[in-house]
Amino acid sequence: MRVWFVRVQHLAWWVLGCLTVGIFLGTAGLGVLPVATGPKQGLSGRTIVLDAGHGGIDPGAVSSQGILEKDITLAIAKELERLLSRAAVFVIMVRHGDYDLADSSETHLLNRKRQDLERRVRIAEEARADLYISIHANFFPSPIWSGAQTFYSEQDAAGERLAKSIQAELVKRLGPNRRAAKAGNFRVLRDTSMPAALVEVGFLSNPKEAQLLADPAYQRKVAEAVFAGLYNYCQEETRR
Ligand SMILES: [Zn+2]
Repeated sequence: MRVWFVRVQHLAWWVLGCLTVGIFLGTAGLGVLPVATGPKQGLSGRTIVLDAGHGGIDPGAVSSQGILEKDITLAIAKELERLLSRAAVFVIMVRHGDYDLADSSETHLLNRKRQDLERRVRIAEEARADLYISIHANFFPSPIWSGAQTFYSEQDAAGERLAKSIQAELVKRLGPNRRAAKAGNFRVLRDTSMPAALVEVGFLSNPKEAQLLADPAYQRKVAEAVFAGLYNYCQEETRR
């Protein structure tokens, strides 16, 4: 009987200890990062899908210096993943390496692209993600255009707020850029049911901007801007 009592007492202390450690870690472990007080408040605790555009046999746009869009999008997505993970966001990367999501047996390029995009959307839908961020780089026949620009689907009011929030930080942090967030007809924006934004991080057709986009320090700045835009958007949504 006495042994039983001592065991129960030990167990009680153990449970109490775990709870205390749990509470401590929950409140102090994340330091100054924005910690959510419940699910879907602020940025922490959210599930965000990061879609690094293109990959594998699809390089996306190619700059005159040979810089590939698929490499830029992946590098920036990985930087953003690192920042978001530190803020206790559950990040789902559509791809982690140089590949697309279509079946390798699919050789028809258009079918392959369709399958790839469908699967990117499906990942977000199956995960019931809170937000979808697609990273791309722009290209235009003339080399004079520059500047990052964020797109949203016309039918997605929350996506529009998200895109505007990201665009504001891109403009603020990346230097002269008069571009505003804009509605765009992109499949990943159209077909996702959660708020979604597509960030064209700059123009690969502009040699100067292409060079910047290939620089890891600049890639980090772009990721920080998107992160700040996401953070502000989530704070605003909490207040709504
Ligand atoms: Zn692209």
